[in-house]
This record gives sequence, C-alpha cells and structure tokens, in this order.
Amino acid sequence: MSENIRLLRDALAAGEGVLRLAPSWVPRSFLMPGGRLKLHPSDIYALGAHRGGIDERWFSSTTNADNGPGTPDDEGLSYVVVSADNGDARKVLLKEGVDEIGDELLGQDVMSAHGGWNILCKFFDNLGPIPHHMHQDEEAAARVGRRGKPEAYYFPPQYNYKENNFAYTFMGLEPGTTKDDMWRCLERWNEGDNGILYHSKAYKLKPGTGWQIPAGVLHAPGSAVTYEPQVNSDVFGMFQSMVEGRAVPWDLLVKDVPEEHHHDLDYIIGMLDWEKNVDPFFMQNRFFEPLPVRPSEEMAEEGYSESWVTYSTSRYSAKELTVFAGRSVTVSDAAAYGTIVTQGRGQIGVWDVHTPAMIRYGELTADEYFVTRAAANGGVRITNSSPDEKLVMLKHFGPDNPDARPLVR
Ligand SMILES: [Zn+2]
Repeated sequence: MSENIRLLRDALAAGEGVLRLAPSWVPRSFLMPGGRLKLHPSDIYALGAHRGGIDERWFSSTTNADNGPGTPDDEGLSYVVVSADNGDARKVLLKEGVDEIGDELLGQDVMSAHGGWNILCKFFDNLGPIPHHMHQDEEAAARVGRRGKPEAYYFPPQYNYKENNFAYTFMGLEPGTTKDDMWRCLERWNEGDNGILYHSKAYKLKPGTGWQIPAGVLHAPGSAVTYEPQVNSDVFGMFQSMVEGRAVPWDLLVKDVPEEHHHDLDYIIGMLDWEKNVDPFFMQNRFFEPLPVRPSEEMAEEGYSESWVTYSTSRYSAKELTVFAGRSVTVSDAAAYGTIVTQGRGQIGVWDVHTPAMIRYGELTADEYFVTRAAANGGVRITNSSPDEKLVMLKHFGPDNPDARPLVR
C-alpha cells in the first residue's frame, strides 16, 4: 500500500468517514471573474494574468481542468487534507483515493457500475454572461472520444448578495425558430455579432431556485453565482460569435466536432436537440423550485429542513440542508456525497466547520468535506453551534443516487 493511501485510510478512520477537502480554484482566461467566491481580491489573479482570473471553485473534484497550455497537472483536482499540524498541511488527491480505494469511498457497486466519481460540481462566478453554447449528447460526444454532458444550476442565496452585470440566462430557442435561422447565424460568424440571441429568450435568475439543462440544449449562463452539478466531461460548442463586445473564435464552436465537419453547418446544427430547444413549455420543464425531501413540519420538529435543489435526472442530484440555530440532527443518505457549507458554523461529524469570510489563495478552509458511502448510510451528526444563525450546506451526489431515483423524469 502506498504512503498516500495509508495516510488517506488514517484520515478516514480519524474523520469517521468524513474527509476534509482543500479549496480547488480554477481560472478562466476567456471570462471576467465576478469576485463573490470569498477569495481575497488580491488573489483573483494569483495564477498570473495570462491564465485569467479565478472565477470557479470546484468541489470534491476528480476531474482535471481542461485549461490549455500552461495548466498545472493538478488544476481542478481536489485534495484531501490528511493532516494539518501547525499549519503545515499534508494532502492527497481525492482522485488517487477514488482510483485506489474507490470501494471504500463510493461503495463497490458504484465503482463497478461507474468506475469512479462521475460528477463535477462547482461554483462559477462571472461579472457578465457566458456565450450561448451547448454540450454534446452521448452520441455526438462519442465521435470525439468524450462523454455527453447535461448540467444543472442552483443559485445559493448566501453567495448571491450582488447580481453583477447580467443576472439573466438565455436558454433554448424561441418556439418557431427554424434550422435555416441557425444556418444564417453560423454563416454570419465573422461579421460581428451573429445575432443568435434574437432567436432565444432570457430568464431572470432567482436565488434559491435552479434549472436543469439537458445535453444539446443552448444556454448562456448569466452573472449569478451558480452551484453547478454536472457530468464530468468538458465537451462544448459555442454558438454565439460575440459576447459583451468580445469575439468568440470559430474554434470554440467546433472544439468537439470531428475535423471533417468543421465547416459542415448541417452537422453542427444537427448536434442541437431541436425539440428540446424550441419547447414551448421550456420553463415548466426545466425550472426547479427546491423540493422538501420529507414533510417540512416533521423536519422542522427535528430542528432542520432539507430540500432537493437538483433533481429529475439520474446523472447527478443535489440537496440543501439547513440545521436551525442551536440544533443537532443526524442525517442519512443512500450515497456518498461532497458538501460545501454556505452559511454558519458548527460540527459535521468530528469536524468543526465554519464558513470563511475571506480566503487567501492556497489557504485551507473548514467549509468543504467528502462523506463516504458508509458514513452517509450510517448517518452524519450535524450540529449548529450558533445561537442565532442557520447552518446551511449543499450536498452533491454522483450518478444514480438511490434516494433521487423516484424523482427521475
Ligand atoms: Zn454549459
């Protein structure tokens, strides 16, 4: 057994199945950071201005960031803090743990069915909108050796104290839009704005609610801080040629298109799930209010409330757990999960947790954890030690969480 796995097993024993994670920060060179992730303002460009500002924090990640030349080998990956004596932390990649002892973290059946932790979950935080884009479905992604990607959004109220420049997201295409309309937008790519947003509509983003975007559906995420569970695949095609006065290169439209189809507009338009894009009931089918996991009164009597915030797909799911001031609860789940605490302080199992006011790049926090399947099944004791403030945490689950199966549509 390697030294790292020995350390990880010691951490699992000491943490009673709950692992503490270090923040994983990710820059994006093509976006402007929104400044609401609690990262110290002096550290937003900690990785160098050429790499872009940090506008994402990835949670319990076993996925490398696909960030082009100059990307460090471990960018995007989460580290487990195995010891933090005298401020000198020893860390082991969560990915190494899943690769080596995934059965102990996720469960044997999950490892045989999925081969790993097949979810990527993050906060993204931008000043303005992202170009209208889509993620390929399984079939189109397989042609470039990747996996298809649906994604979900939830807007945590604690991080959305400020909307930034454009808290609206264009989604899908206006009913009645034709493939010829799309054809003309793509033909106009190099003539400035290709006008694709004239064929779409934007929805105002409401903190405390979310959306579910299937593969093949266009979306241009607005400037709300977004908690985003998704399949861990980085396929995409940008369909908007200019955003906020900045040109989007054609390369980003055809990044995941086979070479021979790079100028084949029929092929490119064919990657869209047309029916879902022009769905006249788009909002009814894709917008989600939180759904209590049990009758609210029963939970309130026990001192907490818990709701599904991402559901309807088997690919991933997420909950928001709120423990009332001064209360303790034991909460069980059917699957392993990662968690980020968004408000308050207290204990999760043996760990003292609290939400930071400000984080320096490279510093540890006490707001992010990973709970093994065994610990989740047995129930985790969560205590809110504040006499007056809520303790709130978001919990993200990988594919096929048994608890979320009845909600799959
Ligand atoms: Zn997307």
